Amino acid sequence: MPTVPITVAYGDGIGPEIMEATLHILKEAGAKLAIEKIDIGEKVYLAGNTSGIEPSSWESLRSTKVFLKAPITTPQGGGYKSLNVTVRKTLGLYANVRPCVSYHPFVETKHPGMDVVIVRENEEDLYAGIEYRQSDQVMQCLKIISRPGSEKIVRYAFEYARRHNRKKVTCFTKDNIMKLTDGLFHKIFNEIAAEYPEIENEHWIVDIGAAKMADTPEAFDVIVMPNLYGDVLSDVAAQIAGSVGLAGSANIGENIAMFEAIHGSAPRRAGQNLANPSGLLLGAIMMLVHIGQTQNAERVHNAWLRTIEDGIHTYDIFDEGISKQKVGTKEFAQAVVERLGKKPNQLKAVSYRLEDVEEVYGETIVKERSDTRKELVGVDVFLDWLKGSPDNLGDSLSKVPPDGMQLVMISNRGVKVWPGGKSETFCSDQWRCRFMAKDKGAPISHKDIVQLLERVDNAGFDFIKTENLCNFDGERGYSLDQGE
Ligand code: NAD
Repeated sequence: MPTVPITVAYGDGIGPEIMEATLHILKEAGAKLAIEKIDIGEKVYLAGNTSGIEPSSWESLRSTKVFLKAPITTPQGGGYKSLNVTVRKTLGLYANVRPCVSYHPFVETKHPGMDVVIVRENEEDLYAGIEYRQSDQVMQCLKIISRPGSEKIVRYAFEYARRHNRKKVTCFTKDNIMKLTDGLFHKIFNEIAAEYPEIENEHWIVDIGAAKMADTPEAFDVIVMPNLYGDVLSDVAAQIAGSVGLAGSANIGENIAMFEAIHGSAPRRAGQNLANPSGLLLGAIMMLVHIGQTQNAERVHNAWLRTIEDGIHTYDIFDEGISKQKVGTKEFAQAVVERLGKKPNQLKAVSYRLEDVEEVYGETIVKERSDTRKELVGVDVFLDWLKGSPDNLGDSLSKVPPDGMQLVMISNRGVKVWPGGKSETFCSDQWRCRFMAKDKGAPISHKDIVQLLERVDNAGFDFIKTENLCNFDGERGYSLDQGE
């Protein structure tokens, strides 16, 4: 078995303690790892690097392609960007895989049969982090969902299910409201599901799906979802399985992968030999599988299960009625080491095969679609305006468009307020004003938009931004407003 170079970051708060414990177990299990240590997180932020990572650390990650990372503290305020999001997006780690398993009757849970894997899209959605203040009253965050991004994550979820012998993949979206963004994710889910006839598939609207998952997690197997829903619901899933302290996570890209615990740096528990190293250890086990050291992964995982089963528990899962011995981080690690080679008696022992090793999926690269017919049919001009009623705005703005164009609608926070608005509708200072050709449905040009903006400016309006309205192969590529 070749020695595999990996990059390791000890992180902040409880990070160094749980990393020491994890690496101790891996070493004793015989994992063949050449460790390159990098510094990331609080120290680097406070030394003036607002990204929390030094350029030399990127070099290590590029060369080893495997990253075992302890949690880090993101200093509050001060424009510090989350290093976790930076690393995931910069390295193209598009799939976040979070197995949430209960260990009944050895760890208290309301869901004894729970074994759910959340596959969360990791790069897009509201986490694109594109935000603006547009007016005195209104902030905006753009939700970006792309076809390639959705194809990659949905295919990953089905491939994961196939390799791990899972029976069903469920998709959560809110496409009854976000018909274009979540609608695309759902549509792609249906397209790709058809390529895996042996795996059951279903879609739930995220709100009722989340309620069902929290109530009856046994009804789910693999759940794939856009970034924000996945972030929130994987914490819920881990917590109801037993504890957030017990879940590991893999962040998979086409070239590089990162493994971590799902919890944070728990600064209040730091330096006291209290923290549970299990989340990071389970992340490290996923890493061993990823680099092909499946036998070691199996030894460590089974020894860990046996330790949990023997009632040797850190404070966070210690329960007088169930646990046998309350231990600290180091003692817990030692207990796992002492059980290497043993299997659990009651909990299901795991076995990893070499076929489980992650691979790069050529097919996640989407086919190019260069033949789509795109037609510009109008423009939404967003205004910062607070000088009267929607009718005042409609009356003045209708006089502005150049020949051949007309103002067709004004909305405020997504509700149509002109023409024919209702006096009860609350209006902020941000207005969406829709201009289209007078000749209904006729195309317009970019020059028409430039001319329109010049006239809007000359009429004294403060425009914030524009969004072009296009049809794609004759299908509307923009949302209608509530009431339109
Ligand atoms: P947290 O997960 O660090 O801690 C919440 C609580 O959970 C802790 O107070 C502790 O009681 C418990 N807990 C968490 N992990 C535990 C463990 N291994 N053993 C025992 N108990 C444990 O969440 P937080 O307090 O919201 O965040 C603290 C810091 O961590 C913040 O700076 C945040 O930005 C960062 N964070 C980092 C990551 C990461 O690096 N992946 C993830 C989440 C939060």
